[in-house]
Amino acid sequence: MKNTIHVVIIGAGFGGLRTAQKLAGKSVDVTLIDKRNYHLFQPLLYQVATAGISPHEIAYPVRAIFQKQKNFEFLMTRVNGVDFERRTVLTDQGDVTYDYLVIAAGASVNFFGNASLEQNALPLKDVSDAVDVRNHVLRMFELAAQEPDARQRQALLTFVAVGGGPTGVETAGALSELIRLVLRRDYPRLDLSSVRVLLLEAAGALLAGLPPTLQRSAVQELSAKHVEVHLNTKVKDYDGKVVTLDDGTQIDTQTVLWSAGVQAASLMGKLGLEQVNSGRVKVLPSLQLPEHPTVYVIGDAAYLEEHAKPLPMLAPVAVQQGERAAGNILADIRKEPLKPFNYMNLGTMTTIGRNAAVAHSFGIKFRGFPAWVVWLVVHLVGLIGFRNRLIVLINWAWDYFFYDRAVRLITRE
Ligand SMILES: Cc1cc2nc3c(=O)[nH]c(=O)nc-3n(C[C@H](O)[C@H](O)[C@H](O)COP(=O)(O)OP(=O)(O)OC[C@H]3O[C@@H](n4cnc5c(N)ncnc54)[C@H](O)[C@@H]3O)c2cc1C
Repeated sequence: MKNTIHVVIIGAGFGGLRTAQKLAGKSVDVTLIDKRNYHLFQPLLYQVATAGISPHEIAYPVRAIFQKQKNFEFLMTRVNGVDFERRTVLTDQGDVTYDYLVIAAGASVNFFGNASLEQNALPLKDVSDAVDVRNHVLRMFELAAQEPDARQRQALLTFVAVGGGPTGVETAGALSELIRLVLRRDYPRLDLSSVRVLLLEAAGALLAGLPPTLQRSAVQELSAKHVEVHLNTKVKDYDGKVVTLDDGTQIDTQTVLWSAGVQAASLMGKLGLEQVNSGRVKVLPSLQLPEHPTVYVIGDAAYLEEHAKPLPMLAPVAVQQGERAAGNILADIRKEPLKPFNYMNLGTMTTIGRNAAVAHSFGIKFRGFPAWVVWLVVHLVGLIGFRNRLIVLINWAWDYFFYDRAVRLITRE
């Protein structure tokens, strides 16, 4: 690296990665910092959790992605703060100075201050969470196979997913199929008629943001896959054995999967900046911090409204903001005016298991098999690395034709 202008990027997720890629071949030096050494394709985490694919198929080493980028350096360390006056990032490995800083630290799980859920429910945010869920679900079946008491067995075989957004819907659908199409054959002596997969959602509909017809389709598809959908249902407490709902109803279960909320990464709370809406930091339309114009915040960590609504915490928003942040940094260096960020919404889609999905793109509503095929293609293309794409495709095809999920391993005692 030999340029005089140093751009530091915090986070090798969707936003940070794209920013660094957009700065390839430009006359700046780029340092990308992340506490882990891989980029994670979070949209397929639920498939790791439900034994469909292996963790390494959705994670890719950062250094491998940037092997050919000459103005690039990677630093694996945790960022603990930023000294904006000294233009310095404070990390576990020491200080890193910058001319321009892009903060793309993403989000973390939000339990909304509920200590019982935080302690006992299983989140789905990182590779280790997904492996924990897979181990836990498979272990429940091993325990149930040895449990003589019918009531205890029922609790072991009751799975509660909380949160009717895409992650909750996809997880509940995939879990029900794992049990009824795959595990059924692994446990021939276990009576699976007592298995319950419940999806609890506090609002009156699943998949907020989709048109009501698609929201209703999602409920129908899930019900057809034996998922019990409960709308207007709020979880109050979970002690590890019993879920208590707001109306006092209690459900015996050893498994609560939590995908009901996210908030900006904890780093955002350490920067002394004003946080709004789930801890996200308000940015100008150019994605700069109003008080520090050489600092950009993008992706899940940033709060920006478009048409009087906050931009969603989604991968395409982070990717497009990464492109805009890189473009604005280069424009600023050239002393040209910066451009505001405009989100190009290509649509949203959620799969509900084999042959079933809902999608809404450019005003067109898809459902069922066509939506599912579109979902498969979009997610396959989104993965990094030809090898990963090929392996995931083979896994999906194998599962589709032979009802056999690849990774039914309990890897932790
Ligand atoms: C289970 C799940 C399913 C999802 N499904 C979809 C989907 O289907 N479609 C969709 O569009 N979006 C989906 N999302 C949301 C999408 O993944 C996010 O919107 C996107 O990842 C945001 O990109 P980002 O760059 O802001 O942050 P991220 O991609 O989360 O990257 C943040 C990076 O910052 C690093 N980091 C954080 N703090 C520090 C620190 N202090 N020091 C060093 N490094 C740090 C992290 O390690 C991480 O690599 C899903 C999210 C989850 C969790």
